Amino acid sequence: MKRREIIKNLSALPLAGAMLPLESALASQPRRGEPAQPREIDILLKGGHVIDPKNNIDGIMDVAVKDGKIARVERNINSTDVAQTVNATGLYVTPGFIDPHTHVFVGSNNSYADGWPSLSPDAITFKAGITTVVDAGTAGWRNFPLFKRNVIDRSSTRVLSFINIAGGGMTGFPSEEDMNDMSVQMTSNIIRQNSGIIVGVKLGHFSGKEWLPFDRTLETCEIADVPLFLECHLREYPLDEILRRLRKGDIFSHTYCAASDRECVLDENGKLKDSVIQAKNKGVLFDVGHGGAMFHFDIAIPTLAQGLKPDSFGSDLHRSSMNSGMRSMIETMSKFLNMGMSLSEVINVATWSTAQAIKRPDLGNLSVGSDADIAVTGIRRGSFGFVDTRNQRLPGDRRLEAEMTIGAGRIVWDFNGLAARDLQ
Ligand SMILES: [Zn+2]
Repeated sequence: MKRREIIKNLSALPLAGAMLPLESALASQPRRGEPAQPREIDILLKGGHVIDPKNNIDGIMDVAVKDGKIARVERNINSTDVAQTVNATGLYVTPGFIDPHTHVFVGSNNSYADGWPSLSPDAITFKAGITTVVDAGTAGWRNFPLFKRNVIDRSSTRVLSFINIAGGGMTGFPSEEDMNDMSVQMTSNIIRQNSGIIVGVKLGHFSGKEWLPFDRTLETCEIADVPLFLECHLREYPLDEILRRLRKGDIFSHTYCAASDRECVLDENGKLKDSVIQAKNKGVLFDVGHGGAMFHFDIAIPTLAQGLKPDSFGSDLHRSSMNSGMRSMIETMSKFLNMGMSLSEVINVATWSTAQAIKRPDLGNLSVGSDADIAVTGIRRGSFGFVDTRNQRLPGDRRLEAEMTIGAGRIVWDFNGLAARDLQ
C-alpha cells in the first residue's frame, strides 16, 4: 500500500483502530473525515511564517494543500471553497523534517533488527514535525525484505534506508564484524530493486583494522550511485584516513563526539583538524548522529565556533536514545538553535539540506506539486535545559515545538487542536 493511502486510511479509522491490522480494519470502516465533495482546497494554512529554503521563501505566506500535494504558496490565498482552514499566525510553516539517522527496525533478543516487535516510527516522528526518516543500516540485504514488509510498508512516516553493507544488518547474526557477509553483489542488487527507498550504504560497528569493509561499501556506493553513510565504532580507522577516503556527498555521522568511539574532529588543543577542514571543502557531509552516547556540547560548541556546522540533524534514534537527552530530532534542532545557529539555518539543515544529502530533491521543500509533507512549528520561550550524552546541561531560552504535522496532505499531528472544532 502506498504511504499516501496508508495515511488516508488511518485518518478514516476511529482512534483505537490504528492498533488493528490495517487491511482488515479498513474493510469494515466508513471513511470518516472525507469531504462530502471535492473542494478547491483541502487544507489552507493561513498567516504562518513560511521558511522554504529550496525556494528562497522566508516570510508570511499562506499554503494550500490539495489531493496530498502542495497546491499554492502565496502571500494571500482567499477561497471560500476550503475544507479545513488553519490559523498559523505566530507559527513557522516549513517542509516536514527529515531525520537521516534512525533505527526503526527494532527487535527483541537484545538486537536491533530481528523484526519483531518493531516500534512504529509514527509513534515518534509526527509529534516532532518529522515526515521522513532514514534507517541507518539496521537492515542489510538479508533482512531488508522483512524490514520493508514490517516497517516501511506499514508506516505513515516515509521510511527510507541506508542499507548496511553487513548482510544481517544490526541483528548480530551474522555480526557487523563479519567481512564474509559484506557482499557488494547482493547489496547492489537490493538497492536496484528498491531504488529511491534505499538511498545509501552504511558502514559501522566494525572494530578491525582492515579496510576491506570500507572498500566494499564504497564499491557498492559507486555501482548504485548513492552516498556512503559512516557510523560509529570504527576505532581502528584513523580519522585522517577515513576523511581522505570519503568522497564528495558521502556522510560522516557522529560529528560532535569526543574521542570515545572514534577520534574527535578537534585536536588536543581544541582546534579543528586540517583533515576535517579539507573533507568539508571536498564536499563530505557532516551529520550530527546524536544518539545515546555520541553528542557532546563541549565538542559541539567549539566545533561550531570554528565553522563546522552540520549538514543534517540525524538523531540516531533508537530504543535507548529516545528517552535520554536526545529525545527526538526536533530537540536536537533546539540545541543547535540555542548554540547560535539561526532558525533559517536550522530549518534548512532539517529539510532541504538533508533532502539533497540523500539525493531525494523531491523532498524537503514546499514547491507546488510536491508531496504535502509540512511541519508547523512554534518556538516556546522560557528557561529550558538541554542535555547531551554525557549528561551535561546546556541552558537555553527557546525550544521548538511541533504544533501540527501534515503527512501526504493529511493532518497527522495537531498538538493544540488548531484544526479541531471549538467546544460548543
Ligand atoms: Zn546509528
